[in-house]
Amino acid sequence: MDRIHIEKLEIFARHGVCTEENFLGQKFLISADLYKDLHEAGMTDELTATVHYGKVCEYITKIASENTYKLIEKLAEEIASKILLKFDVEKVKIRVDKPWAPMLLHVDTVFVELERQWHTCYLSVGSNVGERKRIIDDSISRLDSCDEIRIVSVSDIIETKPYGFTEQPDFLNACVKIKTLLRPHELLEKLQTIESDFGRVRTVHWGPRTLDLDILFYDDERIITSDLVIPHPDMTNRYFVLEPLSKIAPFFVHPVKGETVCELLEKLKSKTPEGVSK
Ligand code: AMP
Repeated sequence: MDRIHIEKLEIFARHGVCTEENFLGQKFLISADLYKDLHEAGMTDELTATVHYGKVCEYITKIASENTYKLIEKLAEEIASKILLKFDVEKVKIRVDKPWAPMLLHVDTVFVELERQWHTCYLSVGSNVGERKRIIDDSISRLDSCDEIRIVSVSDIIETKPYGFTEQPDFLNACVKIKTLLRPHELLEKLQTIESDFGRVRTVHWGPRTLDLDILFYDDERIITSDLVIPHPDMTNRYFVLEPLSKIAPFFVHPVKGETVCELLEKLKSKTPEGVSK
């Protein structure tokens, strides 16, 4: 991807583990790569189509000089996330050099370098208790109110018969495409907090729920841990997931199955036409 590179912006600041560093201060050098498609800027010659690197430098200087952190890791992390939140860039690489690190040994420099980016995820949202439509709408607004989550698109809501444990009310389901700075487990934790804030109590597996939020895809990643599996392991058997998902991500390729969402939906419909209920 295209990038804008800022090389060794010099800032006097007070980061360090030693207390002397926190009041004497020292020089830090900050470098940044801002990843963004620059084709439009190249074609139009308009500043609004790119990222103003002067403003980015001012912002980095403000973050570095107005805060005091023990670690340059923390400083780099703060700069990365704040740039991603404030400027229209997909990914950043931040390097913080501390050439005068107090070690009583000679080194040219010590630095920390990290890359952070927006991740694209698809979520499934379902409810079959209470005011189902309002709960789904409010939970999506709640997701959108998190700084680290941006709603990109939302499918229509569909009504389906319960899956698994069938002696319960019908569900309303939708899918949501988001961009997020959260890691997969951080996202799971955020979804579980929202579920419990909406009064969900985990009792019967596949049982009634005020709100169910699942992670379907997280970029192209394949994750298998004890409490999180991505892509969601049961999504290819669920009409109530594939149908709304096919409206917002018809050609997204399932990173394990190697088939698009539309193909997976067609396959499911041909396998179990009777299970596809509205
Ligand atoms: P459910 O009853 O469908 O909401 O299942 C929730 C449980 O599934 C939680 O304990 C999660 O840790 C676990 N889980 C595993 N993979 C996922 C996923 N991709 N999205 C949401 N929950 C998941």
